[in-house]
Amino acid sequence: MRAAVFMKQVPDVRAGSVGTRPDGTIDRGSAPAITNPADLHALEAALRLADEVVAVTMGPPAAEAVLREALSRGAAGGALVTDRAFAGSDTWATANVLAAVVRHLGDFDILLCGLSALDGETGQVGPQLAVRLGVPHATGCEAVAVDGERLQVRRVVEGGYETLSLPFPALLTITETGFTPRYPTLPLRRYAASAELVELRADDLALEADRIGLEASPTKVAHMEMVPLPSVETRYVGTDLSYEQLVASLRGRGALQERPPSVGSRVADLATLPKTDPVDDAPAVWVVCELTDGALAAVSAELLTKARELASDLGGGVAAFIAGYELDRAIDEASIFGADVVLVAADERLRPYRSMPHARVLHGAVVADQPQVVLLGATSTGRDLAPRLAAMLDTGLAADCTGLHIADWTRRGHTYERLLHQVRPAMASSVLATCICPRARPQMATVRPGVFSHSPAPRKSRVEPVAVDLLPEDLVVEVVDRNVQSRDVSLSDASIVVAGGAGCSAENWHLVEELAAALGGRVAASRAAVEAGLAPRALQVGQTGTTVKPELYVACGISGAIQHVVGMQAATTVVAVNRDPEATIFRFAHFGVVADVAEALPRLSAALRAPQWPGD
Ligand SMILES: Cc1cc2nc3c(=O)[nH]c(=O)nc-3n(C[C@H](O)[C@H](O)[C@H](O)COP(=O)(O)OP(=O)(O)OC[C@H]3O[C@@H](n4cnc5c(N)ncnc54)[C@H](O)[C@@H]3O)c2cc1C
Repeated sequence: MRAAVFMKQVPDVRAGSVGTRPDGTIDRGSAPAITNPADLHALEAALRLADEVVAVTMGPPAAEAVLREALSRGAAGGALVTDRAFAGSDTWATANVLAAVVRHLGDFDILLCGLSALDGETGQVGPQLAVRLGVPHATGCEAVAVDGERLQVRRVVEGGYETLSLPFPALLTITETGFTPRYPTLPLRRYAASAELVELRADDLALEADRIGLEASPTKVAHMEMVPLPSVETRYVGTDLSYEQLVASLRGRGALQERPPSVGSRVADLATLPKTDPVDDAPAVWVVCELTDGALAAVSAELLTKARELASDLGGGVAAFIAGYELDRAIDEASIFGADVVLVAADERLRPYRSMPHARVLHGAVVADQPQVVLLGATSTGRDLAPRLAAMLDTGLAADCTGLHIADWTRRGHTYERLLHQVRPAMASSVLATCICPRARPQMATVRPGVFSHSPAPRKSRVEPVAVDLLPEDLVVEVVDRNVQSRDVSLSDASIVVAGGAGCSAENWHLVEELAAALGGRVAASRAAVEAGLAPRALQVGQTGTTVKPELYVACGISGAIQHVVGMQAATTVVAVNRDPEATIFRFAHFGVVADVAEALPRLSAALRAPQWPGD
């Protein structure tokens, strides 16, 4: 079996020394150039699956270091794709180049990328490359096995994982939670230092100028600004205060008070609200809705709410696009959250979600109706589907946005009116980039769940069926198994959350529960703790778990991986307990305890239970 692994050289933004220059471009400062960490996991997957592994990197000549690293770990060959004409390529243009490289290098059975790159964090190149090559893809894989004539992969999704079966050739993106990379060996290091690499330029690949580089890229960066890393000043137990003073400080900040429950926005209560007439104009903004157990996912309600504002700025209505089977409940909910039109693709083959049939149906509908904007949630589904769709439509896509607004944009004397400005964090969230898509249509974005609130605006929506014309090649990927637990919805409303991570164990998990009891709060967990069997999946906080917004979040033995932090960073006060003083979680913590959980948690519980004296 022959495998190609796509690897990128990135600034180690975790080192925190990246900034922006006065002209708005990125200053990589003293950040060392490294091989994108997830790509090393993809390389490891390739080495375990294939007899011959070829590493491919696109970048400046210095990126050859990535290839030499791949060779030193066992890759048989390396191809450096380098040309000034490629500079500034967005993910669409990068996928065009890499597809040409694959065609140039010959047949591969399997193509692998890291889930996303440390600098851009889009996770889009893999699925877009799959479209260019006409192969199926699976994103976020943490386990892969060859099963006879097919591949079987385990893919991370909200609330658990799913197992997919794909035919060869296929493209997979690999997470850092699977395939621990091997170390280079001394003989391979020697070989890697002098091995001959293939070097490819635009001319070798017969690439047209309108498919590559900055000018051709549909996505442009309009603006870039530094975001100060959370400027939380951490006070440490032991050096700055005692456990008792920590408790007094938490009381002083109001962090120990139970919040009144949020106003119920239960759909059953909302169904009785009066409905207004829909906007007559063609919908300008589409929301591709996601379903959870047949109901509209919270992120879709958030996007419909935001879409109403964007559509009114653009002059048009809002459409909810819903694909699946047995969709009545979701259709009603889309009307409640303000869809003027509900576009319904109902077909048994569209349940559960699979990227190729969903992309096919959505593509047909978008081409027919030509909306100006298409929004999806930045969930495991949205981030799998959106890049495939954007590549099929030859349009731009901004990933994981946290802000959206409509404004004009002027460049070289030309004003583009009423463009969607898509604000997204990049470079380990140290930079906020505003992306736009001036010419290609539709303008597409995936949006981080939980950043916009949802509010009802019931409409007498027009419900319109969408044709489901699928080709046999759209159905080649099978969902073998789905192991998904629904989230504990009450967790998202909790005022106090105590979360345990992989730093806890079965022996001391009761300490997390006791601390939660002492605080009158709810127990939660990181994904690693869930994987270790310490807590049920319903209690997982983070990107593929629940987003919480408590007054107080206590992180016990949690490192602070970005996928966890996005689920808890809205907490008003954060206390982190970790025995590693360098743990990332301390960057987000108002109070830190550098200690073993087995020592710190009982002391904190005891301080909470201690009698309170007047004046404390
Ligand atoms: C697509 C995708 C989605 C993901 N979604 C999520 C998600 O929703 N939620 C989530 O949490 N993760 C998610 N992850 C996983 C995430 O990347 C991290 O792997 C995970 O958050 C790590 O959990 P952790 O911090 O508990 O474990 P680790 O990263 O292993 O950290 C354990 C920490 O405990 C500390 N420690 C160890 N022993 C002790 C001790 N005795 N006392 C005190 N401290 C100790 C260590 O110093 C370390 O900092 C996702 C990953 C991917 C690829």
